[in-house]
Amino acid sequence: MTDLALRVKGLRKQYAKVLAVDGLDLEVPRGEVFGLLGPNGAGKTTTLEIIEGLTSADTGEIEILGLTWAHQGQEIRARIGVQLQSTSLFNKITPRESLDLYGSYYPKRRGTNELLDLVQLQEKADAYHITLSGGQQQRLALALALVNDPELVFLDEPTTGLDPQARRSLWDVVRRMKAEGRTVMLTTHYMDEAEALCDRLAIMDHGQVIATGTPASLISDLAIPSVVELTFEGAAPEPSAFAARLDQAVERRADLWEIPTPDPKALLPRLLEAAHPAPAPSHQPPTRRAPPPSLHPLPPLPRPSARHPL
Ligand code: ATP
Repeated sequence: MTDLALRVKGLRKQYAKVLAVDGLDLEVPRGEVFGLLGPNGAGKTTTLEIIEGLTSADTGEIEILGLTWAHQGQEIRARIGVQLQSTSLFNKITPRESLDLYGSYYPKRRGTNELLDLVQLQEKADAYHITLSGGQQQRLALALALVNDPELVFLDEPTTGLDPQARRSLWDVVRRMKAEGRTVMLTTHYMDEAEALCDRLAIMDHGQVIATGTPASLISDLAIPSVVELTFEGAAPEPSAFAARLDQAVERRADLWEIPTPDPKALLPRLLEAAHPAPAPSHQPPTRRAPPPSLHPLPPLPRPSARHPL
């Protein structure tokens, strides 16, 4: 048995006007949570869909659990789980019914109640799909991806559009997948998500992998700056005077101000000083709720013009 859950070599996909995937190589060992991180249009979804057998590549080799689509497609389908970027279900199907239905397609399947427990949807088991919140629909999509007890699970932006609590609850499900010994490959725009979940990452841009490594090594090797986010309870200070007092550029996005820095801890006292005599920041900056800024850098793109909201 190969130790690799996934091996991709020289993957390439040209759409009419875009080279979506440009010679991509990846190796994901079994049991790893592996993240593909990158800005909109980087080629993450196309890569995932090719690996999942939903889109064809122009060239390249893919081995999934030691199997190839050309020779063992049926076996691959039985052993992987896929959550697409969006899942459309009938409005009037319930989580219980959809899990029963999807499970019936596979030779091996997990029990519906066990899956409902796993994603904490027992209370909504018999509610129409249309009545579920966005987070509940995403959790159901995760349960559907697990219905055949897969060894390798693909999740395409599993938390996009969810509130912080719903994101965290999905993270728990992904962590449980890993604890159960599954390999997970996910795409995300969020460095904090990658840092919280992934053993290793590949950062993609323009169809290519531009860096791979553990989240910690990428953050330190690439000297990725953090971005401190700041909001004010009352009237905000005059921006250019504030930036001058801080002696540092400040980017304004409506009520949210962003301040790139390699050293968020050192910036905090200076921020408080610069905010004076304006009302104090509403929170101890930064205002991102999840991890502190030093753990929470916005990634990396080596092209000077690119400031992507990953
Ligand atoms: P996002 O984070 O927005 O989902 P992504 O990194 O997943 O982006 P892809 O969806 O893979 O990126 O898109 C890569 C490039 O290929 C983009 O320029 C996109 O417009 C293009 N593309 C994707 N699908 C198609 C298609 N079916 N036909 C033509 N171009 C496509």
